Amino acid sequence: MHFDIPFIRPVFPSAELIAQDFRSIVSSNWYTNFGPLEREFARAVADYVGDEFYATTFNNATTALIAALHTVLGQGDGEKHVLVPSFTFAAGPEAIEWAGYRPLFIDIDEGSLQPSLAEAQEVLEGDRYPVVGILLGNTFGIGNAEIGAWENLAEKFSLPLIIDSAAGFGSRYKDDRRVGGAGLCEIFSFHATKPFAIGEGGAVVTRDPELAARLKAFENFGFSAGVGATTLGTNGKLQEINAAIGLRQLENFDEAIQSRQNVLARYRLNLDDEQYQFPEGIERSSICFATLVAPNTEARDVSLRSLLTCGIEARAYYSPAVHAQPHFKGAARVSALSTTELIVSKVLSVPVHQRMADDQVDRVISALREATHEW
Ligand SMILES: *Cc1c(COP(=O)(O)O)cnc(C)c1O
Repeated sequence: MHFDIPFIRPVFPSAELIAQDFRSIVSSNWYTNFGPLEREFARAVADYVGDEFYATTFNNATTALIAALHTVLGQGDGEKHVLVPSFTFAAGPEAIEWAGYRPLFIDIDEGSLQPSLAEAQEVLEGDRYPVVGILLGNTFGIGNAEIGAWENLAEKFSLPLIIDSAAGFGSRYKDDRRVGGAGLCEIFSFHATKPFAIGEGGAVVTRDPELAARLKAFENFGFSAGVGATTLGTNGKLQEINAAIGLRQLENFDEAIQSRQNVLARYRLNLDDEQYQFPEGIERSSICFATLVAPNTEARDVSLRSLLTCGIEARAYYSPAVHAQPHFKGAARVSALSTTELIVSKVLSVPVHQRMADDQVDRVISALREATHEW
């Protein structure tokens, strides 16, 4: 199906600039395996997050998640649990299984759509499940407003706090710190569908240089210099051309975020908050798309149909939630996940493009307003 307004429209460096970068890669004869562009990009990603951080780049965020879980927790025997929200992208819970652990799903809070701290606390205080770690999701890349409390909780129970901030490169926490600097480490995706897009790519950011070095060994077959594989590893390296695109994207990233935030502001100004609710804190994020919660399922479905009819591509993320996907049907959950179920039944997401023209934003707004008349 063709849409006048697609859900995602990444803005990449011009073909001329990419050609120029590729020519320099060819002349250096260094295409991958931690070449000069990858080294520069890794440094730039760490510096973007703040002082005293280390970044390990990856071929995508899913490998980065597996690397982080495996490296921090050790390979599991398939028995122990890692806390994770069900209202997220399947890659996180899948990475938990690849690292040899079981996802233990927790619910979310209604206003923020972020993982429920109260529920996590409750399960950790009980002894029903052997929990060895927390994979917190920064929902839709929005920095969790309670991040300090999550860090305290993890510390209290001596659990590593690993944060899936896949869509959150460029977002800020409530205290203005950049997303990427919390917990033990944070994982970013630089997939073509994220606000910071390089094609396929990802990174783990941490304060711990030793962890960064171990992550780098993991994505390089577990090799140590001279002796070959000393630990279980895989191939998760980022190519030079993607690093080159990343360096170009960083040059214009602040402007890109500003432009996406302007689109969100226009949506907010023109959509009655009483009818559509935006997740708390979305304005501090780099805004992968604009998520709205309609008053009920019927209203959401009417809205989606109205958008479709107007040639606008929209989605119901994250629906179905991970616990409801066939592979995860038997997975453990802390509760009935009733808020997750409720949100899944009435959530929708509409396009936010970098440099999206006002008339395109207004078309989305009028399709949504039209729908409210039918509710
Ligand atoms: C996009 C996304 C991923 C996967 O990232 P890839 O780079 O495509 O592997 C993981 N988790 C979340 C929350 C995401 O949004």
